Amino acid sequence: MRAIQLTKTGGPDVLTLIDIPTPVPKAGEALIRLTAIGINYIDTYHRSGLYPVPLPFVPGSEGAGIVEQVGEGVMDLTVGQRVAHTTGPGAYAEYAVVPADKLVPLPDELTDQQGAAALLQGMTAQYLTYTTYPIRPGDTVLIHAGAGGVGLLLTQMARMRGARVITTVSTEEKAQLSRQNGADEVILYTQTDFADEVKRLTGGQGVHAVYDSVGQSTFEGSLNCLKPLGTMVSFGNASGAVPPFAPAIISAKGSLMFTRPTLGHYTLTRSALLERAGIVFNWIAAGKLKLLIQPPYALADAAQAHRDLESRGTTGKLLLVP
Ligand code: NDP
Repeated sequence: MRAIQLTKTGGPDVLTLIDIPTPVPKAGEALIRLTAIGINYIDTYHRSGLYPVPLPFVPGSEGAGIVEQVGEGVMDLTVGQRVAHTTGPGAYAEYAVVPADKLVPLPDELTDQQGAAALLQGMTAQYLTYTTYPIRPGDTVLIHAGAGGVGLLLTQMARMRGARVITTVSTEEKAQLSRQNGADEVILYTQTDFADEVKRLTGGQGVHAVYDSVGQSTFEGSLNCLKPLGTMVSFGNASGAVPPFAPAIISAKGSLMFTRPTLGHYTLTRSALLERAGIVFNWIAAGKLKLLIQPPYALADAAQAHRDLESRGTTGKLLLVP
């Protein structure tokens, strides 16, 4: 099969297309013929070595497609069934072997591309707004990178929860998109000190929670945006990892709550995975949650997709098609 395989970590150029044997499902696994592959920022961390993965490996943490073959003991999947998954690495390929209990059936109302676009980022936005910091009506929250894949979904879900939503983005075009997806206020954090602006927009009060996926460059400013007892949700490192800090800092900034959550812990059991995926898929089918899916890249163009994502030039969801 055709796949992107890394033999060393580094910049986007290490993403090269090669032919490797199609994997064979073992007991409890299924072979999926992928028709759409989700690109996620975590794929860049695997590629660069920020999150170490044993080499060589096929990157990619999300895909949708058709069950081609099942391993011994797999009872609740049928060949030909449409499914999506967020496991990995291993998704930047024509086929992937996935543990059967990590596969989510795709409802008829969703296309494969919608499934591959919504699963990882949708469940992330859902657990962040409903579980990590369960937003209450009337809260004000700050969402960084509001026009990104997760950012657009987080904004819509924060509004569903009844929040006033402030987002940050890097360009005027992204600001417009963020507003169209429900942001009440948008800050161009490349031009303005966002913490000062948040204080101004909240009459000096600060926000109840910050959802910070940018990491290093926004960390300190984000703490400065919070009300006393506010919650700092640090869930990504698009600008680099947050450096170590002393616990006394979050005391001095207002006895803040600090958490560094990861999707895997919020979908540990099969029932949690199916529940979160079901919620997200139902919202999409009902038209309550809108996806912005960019024209897909060919599998061979994975390196270009990473360049585009890391250059801050993209909005919404990026996909590869094998
Ligand atoms: P995005 O589409 O949001 O792309 C990243 C965005 O980050 C850019 O578009 C850019 O928006 C912003 N950004 C700010 N500074 C930088 C920088 N120095 N370099 C690059 N980008 C920068 O990606 P995803 O939606 O895939 O992921 C968003 C974040 O969420 C990532 O940090 C990812 O790791 C995290 N994540 C965490 C999960 C978890 O469970 N913990 C699960 C899923 C995602 P702008 O131009 O507006 O600044």
